Amino acid sequence: MAILEEPIQEPLELQNYIDGEWVDSEGELRDVVNPANGRVIAHVPISTEAEFDQAVAAAQAAFADWRRMPALARARCMFRLKELLEENFEELSRIQTMEHGKTIDESRGETRRGIEMVEVATGIPTLMMGQNLEDVAAGIDEYLIRQPLGVFGIIGPYNFPFMVPLWFIPFAIATGNTIVVKPSSEDPISQIKIAELAEEAGVPAGVYNVVNGGRSVVSRMVQHPDIKGVAFVGSTPVARDVVYKGCGATGKRVIAQGGAKNFAIVMPDADLPATIAACMTSFYGNAGQRCLANSNLVVVGEGMNPQEHQAFYRRVADAFAEAASKISIGYGLDESVQMGPLRDAAKKQRVASYIEKGVAEGGKLVLDGRQFTVPGNCVPDAFLGPTVFEDVTPDMTIAREEVFGPVGAVMKAANLDEAIQMIHANPFGNAASIFTGNGKWAREFQHRVECGNIGINIGIAAPMAMFPFSGMKDSFFGVLHGQGQDVVRFFTESKVVVQRWF
Ligand code: NAD
Repeated sequence: MAILEEPIQEPLELQNYIDGEWVDSEGELRDVVNPANGRVIAHVPISTEAEFDQAVAAAQAAFADWRRMPALARARCMFRLKELLEENFEELSRIQTMEHGKTIDESRGETRRGIEMVEVATGIPTLMMGQNLEDVAAGIDEYLIRQPLGVFGIIGPYNFPFMVPLWFIPFAIATGNTIVVKPSSEDPISQIKIAELAEEAGVPAGVYNVVNGGRSVVSRMVQHPDIKGVAFVGSTPVARDVVYKGCGATGKRVIAQGGAKNFAIVMPDADLPATIAACMTSFYGNAGQRCLANSNLVVVGEGMNPQEHQAFYRRVADAFAEAASKISIGYGLDESVQMGPLRDAAKKQRVASYIEKGVAEGGKLVLDGRQFTVPGNCVPDAFLGPTVFEDVTPDMTIAREEVFGPVGAVMKAANLDEAIQMIHANPFGNAASIFTGNGKWAREFQHRVECGNIGINIGIAAPMAMFPFSGMKDSFFGVLHGQGQDVVRFFTESKVVVQRWF
């Protein structure tokens, strides 16, 4: 099929957005490369700490007026932003495909989920209401009000360049805070486009700032005395060791969402065709670069003898590998393509080294993603096909660590209890899915599994904007989560007033 028109024709020279102005950075420039065809689509600055400080000063100065604006007026900015995002829906989606590599369908899904955050944040006049109780003692009333705190920092990962920072941005500013966003320097263009639309939507100068950059901007954000809190999404070592510990040391509120290793459990009574279809998008969607991607498929023999279990395992494993082998790969702006490249050649190399470890540790490689031909309109650098290992055991590296690529590991557990123990032995706790027709098993799974996001006959257990995006163990550091009521509380301080009139 034809390639859709590319919205970026010439490399963009990206700037920072500070105090309502688009300004050049003095930092070094890096290329942003379309991983499908190898073309440079932008140059992004790695900003200096001084530039970050300017953005914080602007945000700090803008806070006094912004917090005094009625919540309804702030909500109207969100309504205008939502309309502008809708008007630019297709362009925004194609940009994600160009800067990240995901398919256009995946990008459209990401745009939709990102806009949902803005939609839910339009309800802020209701969402940030407090509580009151008359006559806590005779003639004394008590009430709680929620107030914004000041300047927040928001840091995004590369795998959802559009949506993930939106888990925080609309809630942070709708509650009356001001922000400095640091997009992933690997694919920062979507965040620049959102900030341009926020400016058009009438968000005042200084309320919403964007500073491009890397580690030094993150370190400065964590240290900066005027930053009240940080919302971070990325890998576990950075979430825990840099952001969570750093914010603890400097007394900031923090949401630090980390990496994942998610299990899908297939029970004997699962609807097999529907389960396999759900697993394909879960394991191989976004080329496996999702924190909610399942990557271990556990075939459970609850109530079966060993022969029956083996036969069931074969049926599931064969159907899984067969479906994975049929996924079409190529440039995501071709609408017939089902899987794009990884973000870059280094990430492909990292995943390929996991495949080598899987083979060395005794996994049976039944579909090798290193062996496939890249379509003519693509460069091979970052492409890796769907890969399937069978006979994987929980101690193998590919079963334990976050591979973050299109690699599925098929495993076996004698019963549900053993499958849950496998999940608990893993340090991550982001998500887990069960496929079954049995409510008792599903309920047991939901009750016991120590993961923040549970799918019951759902492969990607992604919470909607009005629910918190949960996560446990090494997948989350903090107390309140992104999205929903949790994030409204994160971005507000509770103040209690006890009142008596003589
Ligand atoms: P990453 O940790 O490498 O980078 C995340 C952000 O931190 C980027 O903006 C980056 O510039 C910055 N950064 C990177 N290294 C740093 C360092 N040493 N010090 C300070 N800042 C640093 O993560 P990534 O590769 O961009 O994203 C993929 C990871 O994010 C995966 O582990 C994935 O599971 C995770 N993720 C988690 C969730 C979730 O909700 N839990 C969602 C999406 C992605």
